Amino acid sequence: MQCESSQDLKNLVDEARIYTKEGQVAQYIPALREADPDKLAVAVYYPNGNCYAAGDVKHKMTLQSISKVISLALALMDRGEGFVFDYVGKEPTGDPFNSVIKLETISPSKPLNPMINAGALAVTHMLMGSSVEERFTRLLDFVKELTDKPTITYNKEIAQSEFETAELNRALCYFLKQHGVINEDVEELMELYTKQCAIEVDSVDLARIGCVFAMNGVDPRTGKQIIPANIARICKTFMVTCGMYNASGEFAIDVGIPAKSGVSGGVMGAVPNRCGIGIYGAALDDKGNSVAGLKLLEMMSRKYALSMF
Ligand code: GLU
Repeated sequence: MQCESSQDLKNLVDEARIYTKEGQVAQYIPALREADPDKLAVAVYYPNGNCYAAGDVKHKMTLQSISKVISLALALMDRGEGFVFDYVGKEPTGDPFNSVIKLETISPSKPLNPMINAGALAVTHMLMGSSVEERFTRLLDFVKELTDKPTITYNKEIAQSEFETAELNRALCYFLKQHGVINEDVEELMELYTKQCAIEVDSVDLARIGCVFAMNGVDPRTGKQIIPANIARICKTFMVTCGMYNASGEFAIDVGIPAKSGVSGGVMGAVPNRCGIGIYGAALDDKGNSVAGLKLLEMMSRKYALSMF
């Protein structure tokens, strides 16, 4: 899909670009340290297929935590709401995304929500298929359908880099296994999860996925219900309550749309019944959100009255 460049969006990108200097690219996954903090891009995708963009739109990023919304949608389609929420809660935590503490202190010991790593690992565990390969192929096919782009793949180097260093996520898996939330081999789950996080997209792809969620699961090109409306609604609700890490409350006030960010610097927004937004800006604040991306979304929310509140 070719996106038209938009002068309006370009003005906002130019204004927000200064904030790329304020953050730092993610350090804890070695391959993400290579990211260029100066890049900034935005795309807006409308249900009629129109798309407008500005900045470094062709620049690719890995989904990282944004993938948690997509795996949640697929797990809910695979297993149903009752099953999924027997193992994962629905409450925000206020803790960092990779925190272990609530798994130890909350009883019964299940992750508080699917947007923190513990909950996302439990959700990825639920994806159906007889092997890691089959489960990953199903997830990748789902992303191809959401983006309408059959060439979507994952970044092997970033997946491998995270797999080799993800000791905290392994620790979360062992907690989950001890408490019966997962029952598979931890290394297999880590392989699937790190590949999931390394699926590579650009801001237009993100905006298109956001648009499908914004339009209650309907594909903008074909009109097909890719995600059942009720599941799209659940995903968007989690995006509001826990999508922007432990800054979700502040984001709800300042921007006011369902959104999910990732440590690669991506942000996917879903403005209900209006459009999807895809942002890339790799310099992060201390909570893990794109600094310039947040500024850009704040400006867009004010300018186009995007807040749902
Ligand atoms: N792959 C990353 C991790 O699990 C995703 C985190 C994120 O984007 O918040 O640590």
